[in-house]
Amino acid sequence: MNAPGPAFPATQPDQVFDWLDAEATKRTEAGLTRRLRPRGPVSDELDLAGNDYLGLARDKRVAGAAAAASLRWGAGSTGSRLVTGSTELHAELEHELARFCGTQAALVFSSGFTANLGAVTALSGAESAIVTDKYIHASLIEGCRLGRADVAAVAHGDPAAIAHALATRRKRRAIVVTDSVFSVDGDLAPLRELSEACRAHGAALLVDDAHGFGVLGAGGRGAVHEAGLSGEPDVVTTITLSKALGAQGGAVLGPRRVIKHLVDTARSFIFDTGLAPGSAAAALAALGVLKEEPDLPGKVLTAAQGLANGLREAGFRVSTPYGAVVSVQAPSADAAVSWAAACAEHGIRVGCFRPPSVPDGVSRLRLTAHAALAESDVERAVKVITEVAPRGARG
Ligand code: PMP
Repeated sequence: MNAPGPAFPATQPDQVFDWLDAEATKRTEAGLTRRLRPRGPVSDELDLAGNDYLGLARDKRVAGAAAAASLRWGAGSTGSRLVTGSTELHAELEHELARFCGTQAALVFSSGFTANLGAVTALSGAESAIVTDKYIHASLIEGCRLGRADVAAVAHGDPAAIAHALATRRKRRAIVVTDSVFSVDGDLAPLRELSEACRAHGAALLVDDAHGFGVLGAGGRGAVHEAGLSGEPDVVTTITLSKALGAQGGAVLGPRRVIKHLVDTARSFIFDTGLAPGSAAAALAALGVLKEEPDLPGKVLTAAQGLANGLREAGFRVSTPYGAVVSVQAPSADAAVSWAAACAEHGIRVGCFRPPSVPDGVSRLRLTAHAALAESDVERAVKVITEVAPRGARG
């Protein structure tokens, strides 16, 4: 039996959460508190913060499909996917996603976050090693933490480090987990080299293509497709329906037996209410638009490059955009927050990344390009961001 622990004194109920105030004070002192800024349905702001890369969230074909499906099928899916939460819309969406990307099968989740949790946990376990890039998305990190696998997070964008971790692992089974386009800096993982490392060491490859799907690859089929890896027997892709498709939800795409395994074992699939029918219908409609307008993704890249070039010429430290994401380094977390706020005052909404989303010392503005950005929008954004830049931002 364990030795008895110390006896803790009784507390008044209204003191139980006093520790939260101390933590909040620490965050305030470090400039790390966060604030919700509810927006209205329409805005005059130029949006360089949202993930609606193709402008489909408000497209009448997409929003109209969501409205019609909600009226026909109900506002919610009414249950988990294995009980009452799978409609014909979910089945059609899975079929169409798999066909579009060239995989054997697909499985729709209620978000990209739960898709990542489900895929990582179900495809690893106590008998597995997981090797990741250290900058993978938080949802993948949570998936790694939840399982009982050996986890090695190696240097960013370094296939040799991944190969070394695979070669020195202690578990027979292994999976390499990476983002395609990294969400903070917008850089692209070396997917082909990672696949080669996986094959050399008998590992599976799981790629989160949240920011690549709908933007990269032929007609927006994603970074995995562009790398020639879609449909490969050892590759699994996760996507979100909430960025390029302008809807909500997530999906895992891959070999049929992987998808079957997820249906049977992925807890974030089994114990979660199915995606709302309106969201499934919106994603289906958005996929239809993408097929009809295959030049949409290219417009995102043009706008992203315009933003990056303009800001670089103005003297800022700017990432090279591979997809929609452009990041601009700020001198400090506080400076990033006030820089973003000043942009908002001038009608430009930009994102702002600081700890814990990024490591200490590399806070930044995060801009997202959209297909509908005109050249004049890009010029205006560069002008405003430059005019309100904090001291020390250039260099
Ligand atoms: N992966 C990446 C790389 C992301 O950026 C996000 C969204 N921030 C997600 C997964 C989660 O997707 P969702 O928002 O659909 O839960």
